Amino acid sequence: MSVAFHGAEFCWMNGEIVETKNALVSAMEPIHLGIFEGIKAYVENDINSSGRLSVFQWKPHVDRLRRSARVCGMEIPYTNEELLEAIRKTIGANGFSTNVYIQPRIWPRADAPKEVHVVIPIWTFETILGKDNPRFSKDRKFMISTWRRIASDALPPQVKSWSNYGNSAFAMREAERLGFDGAIFLDNRGFVSEGTGACIMSVRNGKVMTPPVTASILESVTRETLLDIIPEDLGIPVEVKDIARVELYASDEAFLCGTGWEITPITSIDGLPLGKEYPGPITRRIAAYYADVLAGKVEKYKECLTLT
Ligand code: PMP
Repeated sequence: MSVAFHGAEFCWMNGEIVETKNALVSAMEPIHLGIFEGIKAYVENDINSSGRLSVFQWKPHVDRLRRSARVCGMEIPYTNEELLEAIRKTIGANGFSTNVYIQPRIWPRADAPKEVHVVIPIWTFETILGKDNPRFSKDRKFMISTWRRIASDALPPQVKSWSNYGNSAFAMREAERLGFDGAIFLDNRGFVSEGTGACIMSVRNGKVMTPPVTASILESVTRETLLDIIPEDLGIPVEVKDIARVELYASDEAFLCGTGWEITPITSIDGLPLGKEYPGPITRRIAAYYADVLAGKVEKYKECLTLT
């Protein structure tokens, strides 16, 4: 990922704040059976001048964490409020008042397989969405991966389990080896699926298109949020539909969306430039509005921000 992340000194582990370097587990742990969540807390500019952070879309994230746990046969021994309190304590222990990426990780214990470890490491990061941020308009050349996205009847991509990211790592390493900035997967039917850690949206003739959940994508919180914002707040039509590879090549604009990648514009795919302008005008409009939503400047979406 092109965004700079810095690991924090303290994390939360099984009910306690510990030094991240001392959050140790046995080498025998079955971490490949683990699930996780990727959540961001942003400094609010408008509604909160206290320097405290607000978690964006806490409820959809914790709901997905529980869905992933259920599907993988694990039970999370904490309530949503206890998990939120754990996040608050972790941010507090580190004394952070800058944007924070939070990654709750859960996996069965080696010594008691019916129980789980719950660990919450955090990182500070810099958003790429800030007005005039040059990292937003930096060129990003993508390729269609020769690796297909894992299918729902093999490893369900709708679940946020670590095992799925082996597939993403193959695609990312291939892209880096070949000199690209990132990769887009096709699904096992040959339709556009998603990126290695984000969903994709394309724009053509003023309309935004994005693949359905059945195209082997993670049920992305950002994608769902944008599916509300783009038509309702910006008046731009959106269609959730299967997208053929050539349709993506023929896009006027395309961007990735996700908690980590926020809104990341794509310059070209397989060496074919997208549209005439980069980032395209619709991508810029969506990103500017989304940045305001994250900063608590849009009244309607303040309820998506939970104060830490
Ligand atoms: N797809 C994949 C494979 C991801 O890892 C992510 C990041 N969680 C997304 C899509 C975007 O999901 P979200 O908007 O919930 O972060």
